[in-house]
Amino acid sequence: MSASQKLASLRLPPLPTVGELIKLYNLRAEKQLSQNFLLDLKLTDKIVRQAGCLKDAHVCEVGPGPGGLTRSILNAGAADLLVVEKDSRFIPGLKLLSEAAPGRVRIVHGDILTYRMDRGFPRDISKKWHEDPPNLHIIGNLPFSVSTPLIIKWLENIANQSGPFAYGRTRLTLTFQKEVAERLTASTGSRQRSRLSIMAQYLCTIHSCFTIPGRAFVPKPEVDVGVVHFTPLVKAQIQQPFKLVEKVVRNVFQFRRKHCHKGIEKLFPEACRPEMTQEVMQRADVDPALRPTELTIPQIRALADAYAHLCTLEPDLQSYEFREELRLKHLSRQQGTPAATLADT
Ligand code: SAM
Repeated sequence: MSASQKLASLRLPPLPTVGELIKLYNLRAEKQLSQNFLLDLKLTDKIVRQAGCLKDAHVCEVGPGPGGLTRSILNAGAADLLVVEKDSRFIPGLKLLSEAAPGRVRIVHGDILTYRMDRGFPRDISKKWHEDPPNLHIIGNLPFSVSTPLIIKWLENIANQSGPFAYGRTRLTLTFQKEVAERLTASTGSRQRSRLSIMAQYLCTIHSCFTIPGRAFVPKPEVDVGVVHFTPLVKAQIQQPFKLVEKVVRNVFQFRRKHCHKGIEKLFPEACRPEMTQEVMQRADVDPALRPTELTIPQIRALADAYAHLCTLEPDLQSYEFREELRLKHLSRQQGTPAATLADT
């Protein structure tokens, strides 16, 4: 059988349209759950094409809902599709799809934020980290309230080669509110450059694929949507623990419009702040007058390395949190207790 004949044989048999399924099972979109469906199969096919070749692939689809994207994934030739859906109303429609593609769909009724994806696929599909990515893809059109915490969790998983990345450099194709998609891909100096840009770009190659106008969804969300593709890098651009990088980046970006040394200062307790800040800036060889948005990833790496060096000399620094100090000071003012006493408790 030729490759195109094989792909044609994997195409789904005639089924009720997604719109008919929604009516059949009375699948009203839940506003509280930010459910916005894609009913246009040309559009879902286009999203799925961004993932690359899915022939014989293992795929995890997050939030399949009424199954538009699910159909496109199956039509693209995925051999093993695991769908994780939180809302039980969608399960009967997904079962119908699974019957139309015998042996190719596994349905998990659960929450993607807690689902153990490291146990969801056979171990023998794993590739070593430095090899090409495994034939495993994650695809999803999730509510915005879930996609942002989820990508932050998955970025930490990438850094630790855990969760979906226990199989190697698993690729992700996900939708985000357009503004978040722009932050993920923002380059140095751009208005959208943010914490998320640095955290995502030091770990992944990121490609902004295309924008879907809000009117393409049912019901229409307030905003447009960006499709973003991620491939984890073989070598992360910053070789420090994720939590340390996250702390440095969070501190630097807390004063977005000020010079970057302002944020770096807050990594250190008041007593040693000026000397330690100077030490970090000099060691990293970064101009203290740059704005956070102007910093390149190599400069952030130099700052993280310099901070990590100081932490090896003064291990207590690692647990110091400026915001926590402020909170304790505020509490002590309210209660008339010395801050040090509270900090010690
Ligand atoms: N993929 C479908 C589409 O494109 O038409 C549905 C998209 S709708 C924006 C998001 C879907 O994700 C809904 O079906 C919703 O129930 C599901 N969902 C929301 N939070 C979830 C979670 N934490 N885990 C798994 N599924 C979730």
